[in-house]
Amino acid sequence: MIARLIVAGVNVVRLNFSHGTAEEHIQRAEIVRKIAAQLNRPIGVLCDLQGPKIRIGKFEQGKITLKMGDIFILDADCPLGRQEKVGLDYKSLPQEVSAGQKLLLDDGRIVMEINRVQGNKIHCVVITGGVLSNNKGINLQGGGLAADALTQKDREDIKTAVALEADYIAISFPKNAADIEYAKSLIRKAGGTASLVAKIERAEAIDHLEVMIDASDAIMVARGDLGVEVGDAAVPGLQKRMIRMARAQNKLVITATQMMESMITSPIPTRAEVSDVANAVLDGTDAVMLSAETASGQYPLETVQAMHRVCVEAEKDYFSQAEFSAPDNVFLHTDESVAMAAIYTAQHLNVKAIATLTQSGNTAQWLSRADNEVPIYALSPDKVARRKLTLYRGVYPYPIDQAGKSRDEILREMEGVLLQNGVVEKDDLVIFTFGEPIGSPGGTNTFKIIKIGEHRVT
Ligand code: PGA
Ligand code: MN
Repeated sequence: MIARLIVAGVNVVRLNFSHGTAEEHIQRAEIVRKIAAQLNRPIGVLCDLQGPKIRIGKFEQGKITLKMGDIFILDADCPLGRQEKVGLDYKSLPQEVSAGQKLLLDDGRIVMEINRVQGNKIHCVVITGGVLSNNKGINLQGGGLAADALTQKDREDIKTAVALEADYIAISFPKNAADIEYAKSLIRKAGGTASLVAKIERAEAIDHLEVMIDASDAIMVARGDLGVEVGDAAVPGLQKRMIRMARAQNKLVITATQMMESMITSPIPTRAEVSDVANAVLDGTDAVMLSAETASGQYPLETVQAMHRVCVEAEKDYFSQAEFSAPDNVFLHTDESVAMAAIYTAQHLNVKAIATLTQSGNTAQWLSRADNEVPIYALSPDKVARRKLTLYRGVYPYPIDQAGKSRDEILREMEGVLLQNGVVEKDDLVIFTFGEPIGSPGGTNTFKIIKIGEHRVT
C-alpha cells in the first residue's frame, strides 16, 4: 500500500509518535525508504512528536456516557475513573484552571464548565455530553495551560527520530519561540539535521506567530487542536494568515487535519472536503496532510488519488490568478535576488523550466516562495537535501552527479538530467541557476538562459 500511495502522489510520510513504539517507527521509516529507493522517488520522512497533550486517565469500564447537566470531577488523585470522576495524567491541571472556564475533551466533542476547584479536584458541569473513553485529550478553551512543550517522552522520541534520519521533526503545542529553539537544540545535540516544523495548535501561539515562524523551518496549520482552543470558526481565517506569513518569511507550511475526513469510511470525498483541499492550495500551502484517512481509514489509496487530483486542478487556478510583482521589495540575499530574477524572467519569457543546482536547497526555497507556474527542478548531489525538497511547493528534486566534473561539464549534466527525466525537449528554453565557482560551497550568484540541445551551455 505504501508503494501505491507514493505512486498516487505522496511526497512526505508522517510518523505520528502519539502512537506506536520506537521500534515500530524505525521499521516503518526503513520500509518507506526501501520502497522509495525501488520506485526511484525522493520521499521525506516527518516525525511528529506527541507533545504535552493533556489527557484524562482510564475508566474502570473503559468508558462512560455523560449527559448535559451531569456533575463530573477531574481528580488528579483518582487512580481509575468511574461514572462521576476520572484521573488526570497532567497533575498540575487543577492549579492552572479556575471556576467559569470551559474544558473541551476528546477534540471538543465533550464540553464541561468548571464550577469550582478544590485541591486536586476540578468540579465540572457537563454542557455537551457524549461517550468519554480512556485517555482522551483535554484542551482549555482560549488556551493558557503552562505545560512544557517537550515532555520526557518527546526528548526520547527526538533520539529515535534522529536515529531513523528524519528529514523533518514536528513539535506539538509549542507556545513561543523559546520552545522551538529548545527543541532545535535537542535535535542538534542528538546529531540530527532534520528541519523543524512548529505545529501551531495553541491559542497563545497565535500571539507569537511571527517569531515562532522565524524560529522554525516550517509550520503546520494544526487545525484539530487549534480549532478546539480558538473555536472552529476562527480557523479558516487563521489558516490564510499563517500561510501568508510563512511564505512571506521564506518558510514552508503544511495544512493539516480532517481534510478528507469522510474518506476514512467512504471512497469519495464530500464537495466540502474537495473545496477545503483546493482552498488550502489556493491559499498557497506547500503541502496538504492526511491523518486517520491513510493511517487507519478504509480507503487510503482512493484518498491520496482524490487529494492529488484536487491539488493539480487547484494549482491551475492558482497560477491563473498569480502575478509576480515585488516593486517595493528590498532583497537581502544574493541567492534570493537571483531566484527573483529567474522568476521574473520565467514569467516574461517562454521558458519550460527553472533548474537550480543546489547543495542546501536554499535557492529552491526562494524560488518556491514566488507564485510561479514554471516547474522548478532542484538538482542536488545530496540525498538528504533532495528528501527535504519534497515538501517545497512546485519543486521537483533530482539527483545530479557533479563529482570531479568541470563547470561546463556540470552545466551539460544539468541539461542531461532534465532530458533524461523527460521534463524538457530539444529547443526548449530553460533557466539555470547556480553558484560560481561551481563545486565550491557558497551561494547561488548566477542565472543563465539556455536552449536545450544547442550545446552552448558555456
Ligand atoms: P495531531 O496534530 O494530528 O498530532 O493532533 C494535528 C492537529 O492538531 O490538527
Ligand atoms: Mn494536534
